[in-house]
Amino acid sequence: MQLIDGKSLSKKVQANVSTEVEKLKREKNIVPGLAVILIGDDPASHAYVKMKGKACENVGFYSITHNMPDTISQDEIIATIKMMNDNPRIDGILVQLPLPAHIDTQKILEVIDPTKDVDGFHAYNVGRLVSGMDSFVACTPLGVMKMFEGYDIDLKGQDVCVVGASNIVGKPMASLLLNADATVTVTHIYTKDLKSHTLKADIVIVGVGVPSLIKADMVKDGAIVIDIGINRIADGSLVGDVDFDNVSPKCSFITPVPGGVGPMTIAMLLSNTLKSAQRRA
Ligand code: NAD
Repeated sequence: MQLIDGKSLSKKVQANVSTEVEKLKREKNIVPGLAVILIGDDPASHAYVKMKGKACENVGFYSITHNMPDTISQDEIIATIKMMNDNPRIDGILVQLPLPAHIDTQKILEVIDPTKDVDGFHAYNVGRLVSGMDSFVACTPLGVMKMFEGYDIDLKGQDVCVVGASNIVGKPMASLLLNADATVTVTHIYTKDLKSHTLKADIVIVGVGVPSLIKADMVKDGAIVIDIGINRIADGSLVGDVDFDNVSPKCSFITPVPGGVGPMTIAMLLSNTLKSAQRRA
């Protein structure tokens, strides 16, 4: 069994981004800029935004956070996004999810200029992804693809089972895998017999939010298991969606939590923002 080390892979990506940022500054006098819109007091959202801000600082980006109370109106959020759309110093706009219940998330995401949509959630970019065209791709599934690349894992013809079908994780993951010529099964909460699907798969990718959902008897010997889940359990520690201790001995490759997909997500946000700034240049 080999661990897929997202932490060290993400450091390599960040080092490359830093080098490219230096080049952009030197040759074009451009500093990539990321605007983050953070609404409400959710501690996890605040922690993620803090990590993203720190990562931006480390690679030499300009970054700003618009911190708004959860009583804010939809129109005020839209006005802030439009301001960022028009701001030439901003290459990427990220709205930290989830949003408060009175806000229509899809409506908000559709206001972001698709050329600054570094989270890849705008329907324009989703449509391009599904069509196999160049687009901004959601950072978490893109980070998983980067892991396959980093460990020379060829996806062509592989049977892959994606567990979880959200717009930000499972669906874009499935599109990327299809574009890479894998045979993809997408499962979700209403799937009748989850085990029958995971057991057949060469690769299981799970992003659900249920600790230990994937157990040892659900994966075949030699499988590759990618755990996207992040769950805080009673003792305060972070765990994924895979029963790591019992599943890992059966795997050829597996990602740990923490230190797996999480750091890659942030690295891909930096990489997407750089891509946007390079287009501007
Ligand atoms: P979500 O709630 O939007 O979607 C969950 C998906 O899982 C749904 O499709 C649902 O049908 C499915 N599901 C729920 N229970 C299931 C079950 N028992 N069996 C099979 N499928 C089931 O969540 P999300 O935003 O997609 O996030 C999923 C997980 O991934 C969470 O733990 C989240 O914290 C984590 N996440 C991690 C990163 C990262 O950077 N590592 C990024 C985004 C999300």
